[in-house]
Amino acid sequence: MAGRPNLPILIAGGGIGGLAAALGLARKGIRSRVLEKAAKFGEIGAGIQLGPNAFHAFDYLGVGDAARAMAVYIDSLRLMDAIGGEEITRIPLGEDFRKRFGNPYAVVHRGDLHGVFLAACRASPLIELATASEVADYEQDGPVVTAILADGRRETGAALIGADGLWSNVRSRVIGDGKPRVSGHTTYRSVIPTERMPEELRWNAATLWAGPKCHIVHYPLSGWKAFNLVVTCHNDAPEPVAGRPVTHEEVRRGFEHVHPLARRIIDHGRDWKLWVLCDREPALNWVDGRVGLLGDAAHPMLQYFAQGACMAMEDAVCLAAQMAAAGGDIEGALVAYQEKRRLRTARVQLQSREIGRHVYHPAGAHAALRNAVMRAKSPDDWYDAVAWLYGSTGLDGAVSRETRTTKH
Ligand SMILES: Cc1cc2nc3c(=O)[nH]c(=O)nc-3n(C[C@H](O)[C@H](O)[C@H](O)COP(=O)(O)OP(=O)(O)OC[C@H]3O[C@@H](n4cnc5c(N)ncnc54)[C@H](O)[C@@H]3O)c2cc1C
Repeated sequence: MAGRPNLPILIAGGGIGGLAAALGLARKGIRSRVLEKAAKFGEIGAGIQLGPNAFHAFDYLGVGDAARAMAVYIDSLRLMDAIGGEEITRIPLGEDFRKRFGNPYAVVHRGDLHGVFLAACRASPLIELATASEVADYEQDGPVVTAILADGRRETGAALIGADGLWSNVRSRVIGDGKPRVSGHTTYRSVIPTERMPEELRWNAATLWAGPKCHIVHYPLSGWKAFNLVVTCHNDAPEPVAGRPVTHEEVRRGFEHVHPLARRIIDHGRDWKLWVLCDREPALNWVDGRVGLLGDAAHPMLQYFAQGACMAMEDAVCLAAQMAAAGGDIEGALVAYQEKRRLRTARVQLQSREIGRHVYHPAGAHAALRNAVMRAKSPDDWYDAVAWLYGSTGLDGAVSRETRTTKH
């Protein structure tokens, strides 16, 4: 396509977003070369929640069956009061939910999800994968983009997609808006074998215990072999941190005030690792000529809507569709892609923050109001509230409509 048909699309980053983008392009007959900074492709060992919009993307990317096979299909999303210990509300994810959105809600192991994408990429003759290849910078000259690697090597392509995550080097050239915003929220993650999870808490649900300036999430993983534990406190942490091991005592410190049942979850965790969460203000422009951004590089968000990876996959779907439709006009395709994605992803970025403030971390009257408002909602009220998100495919740029409920 475009100018020099022999040049691939370069993709900086082989995380979920970068590999999904490579697959999407391959499905349209477009070659790509993924340049991954790490010595090995992989993902950290933790869980991830996937809304129905992720399954729309899996089908479009041709990995629907493999993705469905590794998922655990939970019955509900449960919101618990971490102080009183009682359930505030639950959103059923059964037949009515699936019918409404055309796909299920599920939880998966990140490694399994990344593995599905990696296997599909390896099987495609249109995708080249390179490790130990950190993209540091780029140059553009007519129809050619050159990615300049940190070790001085140069790679040429017809376009460069920056899927290089929160600390994206490509973004620093395309937008140049400095470091990510540190939220002051600290998250600790642990994956434990199911037999270590207290029996009375082995619920087939993504459960969230909301407390003052803290919350706890747990759900089953990997065919019920393990439980994912994610506990977060708003402790005004000043510096970004990613994946640092921490002691049990440190994790417990932010949760002394919560209900004993919620605290037991923490007691059963082990090998905890810590993240200080970051996001960014939404940006209106992510494109510079033949260079564009995707996933966390474009719109990093707090995890409170459980949508960062889902948005990265939707980006991949939309990018592939626009590249295929553009008839070789790569710059036009990138602008059209950005146009379709920027408001939808901005909405998820901003709402993720608000969910933290108004649902996950309130205290006192704020928490009592949350409980009263949430208890008053019926399942249909919940489905209506998330229809703009789960009912869309990423192809339509939807921010306010439910646009489709069937498979691609
Ligand atoms: C605690 C937590 C829980 C979450 N839970 C959910 C959830 O339930 N559901 C959900 O959908 N999302 C969730 N997310 C968000 C999700 O993890 C991210 O949005 C998603 O992984 C982004 O994928 P990505 O490919 O854009 O970026 P990344 O996963 O960061 O991948 C970037 C890749 O690029 C590589 N790289 C970095 N720099 C360079 C460079 N210069 N050159 C080449 N390669 C480079 C990295 O090594 C990495 O492989 C959660 C996030 C956190 C922190």
